[in-house]
Amino acid sequence: MQAVRPFNFSAGPAALPHEVLSLVAEEMLDWHGSGMSVMEMSHRGREFISIYEAAEADLRELLQVPPNFRILFMQGGGLGENAIVPMNLSGGGAVDVVVTGSWSKKSAGEARRYADVRIAADSATLNADQRHLDIPDASTWQLRKDAAYVHVCTNETIDGIEFQTLPDLKALGCDAPLVIDFSSHVASRPVEWSKVGVAFAGAQKNIGPAGLTLVIVREDLLGRALPICPSAFDYKIVAEAESMFNTPPTFGIYVAGLVFQWLKRFEYAGKTGLAAIEQRNIDKATLLYQALDDSSLYENRVAAHCRSRMNVPFFLRDERLNDAFLAGAKERGLLQLKGHKSVGGMRASIYNAIPLEGVQALVSYLKDFENRHG
Ligand SMILES: *Cc1c(COP(=O)(O)O)cnc(C)c1O
Repeated sequence: MQAVRPFNFSAGPAALPHEVLSLVAEEMLDWHGSGMSVMEMSHRGREFISIYEAAEADLRELLQVPPNFRILFMQGGGLGENAIVPMNLSGGGAVDVVVTGSWSKKSAGEARRYADVRIAADSATLNADQRHLDIPDASTWQLRKDAAYVHVCTNETIDGIEFQTLPDLKALGCDAPLVIDFSSHVASRPVEWSKVGVAFAGAQKNIGPAGLTLVIVREDLLGRALPICPSAFDYKIVAEAESMFNTPPTFGIYVAGLVFQWLKRFEYAGKTGLAAIEQRNIDKATLLYQALDDSSLYENRVAAHCRSRMNVPFFLRDERLNDAFLAGAKERGLLQLKGHKSVGGMRASIYNAIPLEGVQALVSYLKDFENRHG
C-alpha cells in the first residue's frame, strides 16, 4: 500500500513520481545486493557504470536523441550553463538571445560576461506594461550573420510561456546553432533535434534531484571552448571522458535513470512512453487553463498559443484573497501554489510527476473557493 501524499505543485525542486521515490527508499541501504547505497559506490565501479549506461541509453531512446549528439551528465545547474554555454560556444564573439521571460533574460546577462550579446527580440516590448506574455514572431527576430549561436528558453518557468514548436533558424536565413534551455519541460514532449545545437536542463524540475545538469550537444560543436573554460565544464573533455572527467553527481544520475525507466513504461490513453506522458500533460494543462478561463475570479494572461503545459501562473482578481486561497489549498493537500516573487499571484507547476487527479483536485478547489468568495 502506498501512503497518500499531498499534491505538490512546486516549480522546482519539484515532485517526483511516487513509484520512483519508493524504489529509491527500498534500494537505499543495499543496491541490488551490492551491500552499498548508490551514494557510496565508486563512480568507476562496475555497479555504477551499469547505472550510468542504462540512464544514458534510456534517455537517448526516450527523447530519440540522434547518434550525432552526445549526452553529458554534468553539474552547475541551469545558471551554471548560462556561463558554460558561452564559454564553450561563443569564441568570445556574437551571441543572439531571444528574451521571452525571466530565464532567457538571465541567460543574456550572464553571457555578456563572455561574449558580445545582442537581444534579437524581447517579448516585453510587445505590451505597454512590459510583461512577458507572448513570444515575438520569429520573422521579427534580429539575427546576426556572424552569431556563434542563438539562445532561447523553450519553457519560461516563471512566466509560464512555452515554445510549442522550435524556431527553424535555417528557414530564417541563420546558420548559427540553436541553444535551448529546456530545464523545465525536458522529457515532457518530444524535441525537434534537427533544429537544435545544444540543449541543457537542470534536473530538479522534471527528471530528478537538484545537482545534476543534463547537456545534449551536437558533436560538431565540441572543441570550441575558450581557454578560460574550466576543464570540468569543457563539453569536449566531458564527452571524451563519458561524463567522468570528475566525479559526476552519481545519486542524481541514479534517480534520473529510474525516472527515465518510469517514463519508458508509462501508459496513458492507449499510448506508451513519451507520447503517453505528453498526452497526459496536454490533458492536465487543458483542464486547468479551461477552469481559469471559465472563472471570473482567476486569470492567466499568457497568449493562448504559447501557454506552458508545465507552469501555469494565475492571479486572483482580488489579491486580498491570496492568503486565504493558499491556506485553504494547503488544508486540502495542495502544496506550493504561491507564485514567483517577481510575478506575484499563484503558480501551479504540473510537471510529469503530477497525476491527472492532482489537477482535478486543484480545479475542484478553484471552483469551491470561487463559490465561497467570488
Ligand atoms: C530552474 C531553471 C533554471 C535554473 O536552474 P539552477 O539549477 O537553479 O541553476 C534555469 N533555467 C530554467 C528555464 C529553469 O526553470
